Amino acid sequence: MSFDTLELSGAVRQAVQALGFETPTPIQTEAIPLMLAGRDVIGSAQTGTGKTAAFGLPILTRLAEPADGPRALILEPTRELAAQVHSALVEMARFTKLETAVVYGGVGYARQNDALRRGVDILVATPGRLLDHMERGHCRLDRVAHLVLDEADRMLDMGFMPDVRRIVRRCPARRQTALFSATIPFEIENLIKWAMRKPVTIEIGARRSPAETVRHALYPVATAQKNDLLLALLEQLHWESVIVFCRTKRGADLVAHLLKKGGHAVAVLHSSRTQSEREHALQGFRKGRYEVLVATDIASRGLDIQDVTHVINYDVPQHPEDYVHRIGRTGRAQAEGDALTLMTVEDVSHVRAVEGYISRQIDRARLDGFDYLYTTLLDTSRPATGGRRSRRARGGRVGRGFRFSPG
Ligand code: AMP
Repeated sequence: MSFDTLELSGAVRQAVQALGFETPTPIQTEAIPLMLAGRDVIGSAQTGTGKTAAFGLPILTRLAEPADGPRALILEPTRELAAQVHSALVEMARFTKLETAVVYGGVGYARQNDALRRGVDILVATPGRLLDHMERGHCRLDRVAHLVLDEADRMLDMGFMPDVRRIVRRCPARRQTALFSATIPFEIENLIKWAMRKPVTIEIGARRSPAETVRHALYPVATAQKNDLLLALLEQLHWESVIVFCRTKRGADLVAHLLKKGGHAVAVLHSSRTQSEREHALQGFRKGRYEVLVATDIASRGLDIQDVTHVINYDVPQHPEDYVHRIGRTGRAQAEGDALTLMTVEDVSHVRAVEGYISRQIDRARLDGFDYLYTTLLDTSRPATGGRRSRRARGGRVGRGFRFSPG
């Protein structure tokens, strides 16, 4: 399958080439023809599968020329995602005359007002700020022909469903609706029934299975040694870039402080940081100015951060689906990645929930040379099978032992 066999416009194909996409990803192969044919589509694919282009390329093809708009509306749960999807769409629209804009909260209105006043064909927005603009009379949705509800389960988690429904009601009934969601809980099923017409569902891989290219390991540890083990892992693993996930904002701040003291260049991402702090953190991490990003779940879902070699769960996520989202930061676009999770006695039930959710047991691991305090978890640690080592280690460049206990 190549992009040439998909009926994309010339300008859109040119952008695909400029972006260096050679073959469509599975979700693109399935979604693009359906979207071009005007069907409603439900994509239950994880982020990192190329879903932005799966809806972006056909919508740009169908919009073709500028007209009064906005004619395409893409709703995103967070400002970071909105900004990321917007910049991806700008790239895809590069050889068209179509105008794009993004609106999200936490920043001033002036620039967004100007953009809306100039007229846009494609609008990417977070729900709350979009409603603000609509109430102020800056934006109408009566020409929207293509509506995308991206990361719908996240919008639900964040309490945006009433806002989403208000927005959908303001769009014309005759429209194409696409919905993307890693999971389809009951409330999303209701939204689908209410907002979509005869949708076609595309499932890429098992809905719940985490990226197959990721290697998983659980590190049992006494609570008092979590910090030491984290530092030791960072010392011994051969990583290039790592995201450390914490359950709370305060926890993230403390871990960031610990790592800074340990000599690491660290950025922090959580919802109490200002917009400019969050952008600075993300940009710095993407550009390699920071080697470690410490993040909470809410701040990080869906972010397209390239080449993260390791995800470390400092805390086991309380919601098993967050495990899948977290590890989705590594192993993206078929690259290999490692997901390491610290586990204390208090985490046992959450670990079981994660293992149940992903339908597999995660290998237990011990860091070689680490002076473990006793915890009952160490008695029951199962050995990891096979030579699971970091990317560089497998390349033969490992200097120190990173071995799993023989059991
Ligand atoms: P997404 O799931 O939309 O966040 O996309 C994940 C990453 O895959 C982005 O960095 C895209 O630029 C990239 N990508 C999307 N489609 C393709 C493709 N057909 N070939 C190569 N990379 C792609």
